[in-house]
Amino acid sequence: MSRNHDAVESGPAARVRALEELLARKGLVDSDSIDKLADTYERKVGPRNGARMVARAWTDAAYKKRLLADATAAATEMGFSGPEGGHLVAVENTDRVHNLIVCTLCSCYPWTVLGLPPVWYKSFAYRSHAVSDPRGVMRDFGLTLPDNVEVRVWDSSAEIRYLVLPKRPRGTDGLSEGELADLVTRDAMVGVAEVASPLRTGSRRSQA
Ligand code: FE
Repeated sequence: MSRNHDAVESGPAARVRALEELLARKGLVDSDSIDKLADTYERKVGPRNGARMVARAWTDAAYKKRLLADATAAATEMGFSGPEGGHLVAVENTDRVHNLIVCTLCSCYPWTVLGLPPVWYKSFAYRSHAVSDPRGVMRDFGLTLPDNVEVRVWDSSAEIRYLVLPKRPRGTDGLSEGELADLVTRDAMVGVAEVASPLRTGSRRSQA
């Protein structure tokens, strides 16, 4: 993993680096291949694959049906497969149901469609509060859901990883699949945010 030696490392980062160095010294891992893997999922994959799947589901009803029936196959169909990508399940947000993804045990996450998990996803605070107080967690991210929306929390594991299919925002009727994909954020596909309408900034300002 790329390191900035000028920066002060936090406890977990320092422990990971020490562990990686020890394993490399013993010849059990190759630091170059770890760097390559991390770089691929951090920079090249990122959350853009998932965003493209969401945009396709918004514009292609048949694809959406396939995505909700078998997300692994729907990802593979678009060329997205690899480590940590099997047994993917897509859960759909609607006006009545909002889905939130967590891994209470560690940090299981769909790498092939969302890249590597953000630091907060791996934090104990998120992993515990997402279950005990999901609405509070979402509020911390700036998302307040109406009381009549049912919140479903999905606990990821090595066997099943989840992807949220967010609601398509208003004001996006004329947008292309590519333009729609640009609106979709990683946080929306984990469920701590909604996809913002491109109209929203203007209307908020005019209300202020
Ligand atoms: Fe995990």
